[in-house]
Order: sequence, then C-alpha cells, then structure tokens
Amino acid sequence: MHFSGLRVIREALTGHKGWKPLWRNPEPQPAYDYIIVGGGGHGLATAYYLAKTFGRARIAVLEKSWLGSGNIGRNTTIIRSNYLLPGNEPFYEFSMKLWEGLEQEFNFNAMVSQRGILNLCHTDAQRDAFRRRGNAMLLAGADAELLDREQVRAMAPFLNFDNARFPIKGGLLQRRAGTARHDGVAWGYARGADMRGVDLIQNCEVTGFRIDGGRISGVETTRGYIAAGTVGVAVAGSSSRVMAMAGMRLPIESHVLQAFVSEGLKPTIPGVITFGAGHFYVSQSDKGGLVFGGDIDGYNSYAQRGNLPVIEDVAEGGMALMPMIGRARLLRVWGGIMDMSMDGSPIIDRTPVEGLYLNAGWCYGGFKATPASGYAFAHLLATGRPHETASAYRLDRFTRGYVIDEKGVGAQPNLH
Ligand SMILES: Cc1cc2nc3c(=O)[nH]c(=O)nc-3n(C[C@H](O)[C@H](O)[C@H](O)COP(=O)(O)OP(=O)(O)OC[C@H]3O[C@@H](n4cnc5c(N)ncnc54)[C@H](O)[C@@H]3O)c2cc1C
Repeated sequence: MHFSGLRVIREALTGHKGWKPLWRNPEPQPAYDYIIVGGGGHGLATAYYLAKTFGRARIAVLEKSWLGSGNIGRNTTIIRSNYLLPGNEPFYEFSMKLWEGLEQEFNFNAMVSQRGILNLCHTDAQRDAFRRRGNAMLLAGADAELLDREQVRAMAPFLNFDNARFPIKGGLLQRRAGTARHDGVAWGYARGADMRGVDLIQNCEVTGFRIDGGRISGVETTRGYIAAGTVGVAVAGSSSRVMAMAGMRLPIESHVLQAFVSEGLKPTIPGVITFGAGHFYVSQSDKGGLVFGGDIDGYNSYAQRGNLPVIEDVAEGGMALMPMIGRARLLRVWGGIMDMSMDGSPIIDRTPVEGLYLNAGWCYGGFKATPASGYAFAHLLATGRPHETASAYRLDRFTRGYVIDEKGVGAQPNLH
C-alpha cells in the first residue's frame, strides 16, 4: 500500500474502505537469524535498516507489549543535533540528516517539522560555552547561530527576560532541529520492516537468554523458546533488567521522566525553547497543546509514571521562564522509563557474550537518535563492526576511562 495525496483523496471519496493494516501479526517461528528484543523506536529502526540497507533476512522483533508502547510513544518529540563532543556530534548530525529524508524514504507521514530549537543562556560564561558548542556543530556539518538578547526577544517576546536569577542574555539556535510525531516514527519503521519480511511479534516478552559456551543460541520468551544466531537488545528503560538475565551488570540507572501537555492554544511557541538553568523545555504541538517537561524523578524506578515533586518543579520552571503558562490548563501528564547511563551518552556495542549485542543508555535523548541508532546498530549486527559515527559508544569505556561526558558533570544522571 503506497501513501500519497492522491490516495488520501481517493479514500476520502470512497468511504475510507481501502486502507489496510500497516503490518501483519505473525506467529513466532522456531528460529531466526536475527532477533531484536524491544519494539520501540530503536528496535524497529534496527530491523528496518537490517532488512533494507544491509539486505538481511529471517529477522524478528520481539516486543513484550504493543509496538511503540514504551518511550518512543511517550517522549516530547524533539529532534536536534546540537552536541559538543567529537564522540557525539557526528552521530547526532548523521541522525538529523536521516530525519530530513525519512518520510520520503519509508513513505509514511511522521510529521517531521524543522521548526528550530533555541537553547537560552543566562550568563556570559554560558554564552561562551554555547559559542564553543556552536563552533563544534559547524565543524561537524551541522547548523548553529548564536543570538543576542534582542534577537531572542524578536523570536519569543513572551519570555521573562528580566528574571532576577536567570536573566536571558541570548541563545544558541539550531534552525534544522524541531519535532517529529513519535508514534508516526514507530509506525513508519514498523511498516517498512514488515514490508521487507521482518516478523513483528507483539505480546512476546523475553524472559531469558540461552547461552552455550559463551555464545548466544536463542531467547526464552512468554511464547516459547526461539533460536537465533544474533540477538540485539534495544529495550531502553528495561536494559538493566534484561541484560541481568545474561549475567551482566550495566553502568545504567533507570529513572522516570515525565512529560506534560496543556489544552490547545493558538500558535504561541515558535519552535522548541529550552531553559537549561531551570531544567524546563517547551514546544507546541500542531493541535495547539504546549508540550513541556523538565527533570527526571529523583529515585530509581521501573514504573511508567512519576510523582508530584517533579510536577511542582517543572511548573516552577515554566512560571520562571514564561509566566503566561500559569493561565493554561494542564491536560495530561505521563512518564516513561529512562536508561540513564553514567556519562549521559549511549552504548551501541557487542557484549562479552558472542552474538549478543546491546543498544542502551539513551537517557533523555534517544528519540532524536532513532534513525542513526537503528542504522548504526544494524551495521554492527550485520557486519560485526561499529558504524563510523558510533564507534565511541563502547560498553568498556567506563572501565577504560574514555567516558563521553557531554555536560561535564560526572556520574550523576540527574545532571546530564
Ligand atoms: C517523557 C519523555 C520525554 C522525552 N523526550 C525526548 C525528546 O524530546 N527528544 C529525545 O530525543 N528523546 C526524548 N526522550 C527519550 C526517548 O524517548 C528515549 O530515549 C527513546 O525512545 C528510547 O528508545 P526506544 O524508542 O527504543 O525505547 P522504547 O520505546 O521504550 O522501547 C523499548 C521497548 O522494549 C520493550 N521491552 C522491555 N523489556 C522487554 C522484554 N523483556 N522483552 C521484550 N520487549 C521488552 C518495551 O516494552 C519497549 O516497547 C524522552 C523520553 C520520555 C519518557
């Protein structure tokens, strides 16, 4: 089934009877060449690129719930490549370039909207740090502009410029950044993978790994044993629990991150605005809701819901940045489980078990990474070698001392 404007018009005129399900619902086979554990954005993108770009077959994605039920369907949809460090920036810029062609590539509307992201700065030192980051972005082929206070005011006159503690002094703008519809991304990758013969198996939880002589031979699931030569794990907030079944202890803590959406308002927010000093960020959905969030909940949890102290903290951050937000009514609040790595950067690597690979540690930022993460993980699974933009994301960097600490805050997940 091919999507197009003409198709939409034809269906509208014929009672919408021609639409088909986007993917099959197959029974698990006894054996596959490749099993991807986790049907979130990263797992689905991995299966898609494995089949499409690397020409692999006999692939299954095993998802314990429904496809897209995890963080891919719970995030605040921001995509950007405004990173500083050499281990990160080329990877996220690769992702940004994949986003720019994604909808045409998989023929699905993921509402990719390059409406820009503005990071506000509040001190001269922070402006210097933004200048350095902007230069690093330019060197990696990304776009970046440093704005002064009046340029920020012209873009977003509703901000509180004279906040006594955090007066706005300017901002770092990436115009190619923006938002994308998170479910649409999951559905687009799922459909594209299914079209290429990947079995997407829902309600199939992996409950154990079968390891013979240091090599993976398959996975135990709630729907029986399934054999596989290569297994890639992409379970985000459940990474520690799942990898513990293979005898591994990860440098990852799981925390809840909450998100908020207001009632629909007239167009107000020009793009994405982040207030790092107060840990608050906001954008506006196409339906008009203000979509915003802040810090992680300050305790470890595997629950997909948060608690009131962070709601209060986020509300305070919003009021400090744009007091008019106090007039908007809150519509919904929800949470997802973040796999917070100890340096704030991800892991895309092989493990000590031969044939078992890990994709994890995405912290708050894994949605924007979805295309590059899927591509790089598929590259690793298919070729056994890391993709050139992801070669720093090694699991052993914590023992070797090569951490990628983008924020320079050490092993403190709440500060990443
Ligand atoms: C509130 C919130 C806001 C965010 N905002 C942003 C943002 O604006 N920009 C950004 O870049 N990132 C953002 N993120 C982070 C981003 O959503 C995640 O980093 C990313 O989605 C994680 O990868 P994933 O999509 O594969 O995860 P998930 O969608 O969580 O996929 C993992 C899947 O694994 C499945 N699973 C777990 N255990 C098993 C098992 N044993 N067997 C089988 N399946 C299993 C789960 O059910 C789940 O479906 C946000 C996250 C949250 C929660």
